[in-house]
Amino acid sequence: MEGCLFCQIANKKLKSEYVYEDEKVIAFKDVDPQAPVHILIIPKTHYSSILDVADEEMGIISHIHKVAKKIAKDMGVDEKGFRLINNCGEEGGQSVPHLHFHLLGGRLLGWPPG
Ligand code: 5GP
Ligand code: ZN
Repeated sequence: MEGCLFCQIANKKLKSEYVYEDEKVIAFKDVDPQAPVHILIIPKTHYSSILDVADEEMGIISHIHKVAKKIAKDMGVDEKGFRLINNCGEEGGQSVPHLHFHLLGGRLLGWPPG
């Protein structure tokens, strides 16, 4: 989608520190990491948020979780634990309107989040 920051990162018009890519998703390091491991996993298809994903397209969400599991293992945070977060909408803390999941790990994460 024209003008979307994460679409530009997905199609490499804007470069990022990529850690994983396949035909459906791409993952890269968050520019402002909140933990030693902070990766963003996004679908290559533009969805503004999870609310834009139709029921019949929900396979992309399980795929993202599968990829998160692999990245967590690759980055060595699978044993101690990690968190996968999707912020949705203003009160959910979403600032970039392209569906993304945060994979956070490498430190003890507080609960509940602020
Ligand atoms: P949200 O607040 O929408 O859940 O998360 C957006 C995330 O995108 C934030 O953690 C922010 O640091 C990250 N971010 C914003 N702009 C860029 C960018 O240009 N490159 C990268 N790698 N991350 C970004
Ligand atoms: Zn987009």
